[in-house]
Amino acid sequence: MSKKPSEKETPTKEKAVEEVKEEKEVEKSVEKPAKAEKPQKKKKEEKGIFSLYKIESDKVTRLRPTCERCGPGYFMANHGNRYTCGHCGFTRYKPAEK
Ligand SMILES: [Zn+2]
Repeated sequence: MSKKPSEKETPTKEKAVEEVKEEKEVEKSVEKPAKAEKPQKKKKEEKGIFSLYKIESDKVTRLRPTCERCGPGYFMANHGNRYTCGHCGFTRYKPAEK
């Protein structure tokens, strides 16, 4: 009865290597993914009195209605379905579309 020393092969080493591999993989998955590009923000409407006028050749058109109460010079704010005057609070509903 003579045992061969080959039986002594240590599987532990292999196991250790495997473990290391696994660890590495885990680390990889933990790594931060490439930053996703931020969705571009909608460009804000430019503010300023110039945004209320449109110039066509030599004509100037006002893009907002003026307040009926306050008279010309007081523009009304565009609020989707209505215009309001910030000066006196007058509200005028837009004519329904369609
Ligand atoms: Zn007004």
